Amino acid sequence: MSLIKCKVCGNHISSKLKNCPYCDYPVQNKSSKLPIGYLIIILFIIFAIVININNTSKTEAVSKVNNTNKLAYELATINKGGYVSETDITITRFDYLLRSLENKTFESKSEIADMTVKCQKILREKYGIEMKLLSIMEDLNDSIPSGSKVKYAEIAGVYIQQIK
Ligand SMILES: [Zn+2]
Repeated sequence: MSLIKCKVCGNHISSKLKNCPYCDYPVQNKSSKLPIGYLIIILFIIFAIVININNTSKTEAVSKVNNTNKLAYELATINKGGYVSETDITITRFDYLLRSLENKTFESKSEIADMTVKCQKILREKYGIEMKLLSIMEDLNDSIPSGSKVKYAEIAGVYIQQIK
């Protein structure tokens, strides 16, 4: 038990009392510190939640970028026939071509990537023509005028017939 000074009448009273026995003023012993303690905990929880949300959205943004670049990276690897650095210029090029071709064709990016690889395989195995994946995709992209909507598979078929 400790003695404190009443703020109103100035008498020394026990800090454990709820009200001053002299003037009945409510004794503010330690209870005034409690809301601040709670406030700090609540702020800390809010802070932790905000940090967590921020990190989650960052992770999602990164994985979105990775998904878009993943195809381009795979194509760059096939194009080179081995490991390519993540900053390799062909990744950017494949990424651009995939976007461009997706706009001009009915196929999805992954379908476009698959068909280009198939196209290269047909040229190599059926006609003995060795062509870089990037060249095939550049040629196909050039052959489709912007603003048009075509089937990539058909364009690739015509391309093979012209090349062989
Ligand atoms: Zn008092």
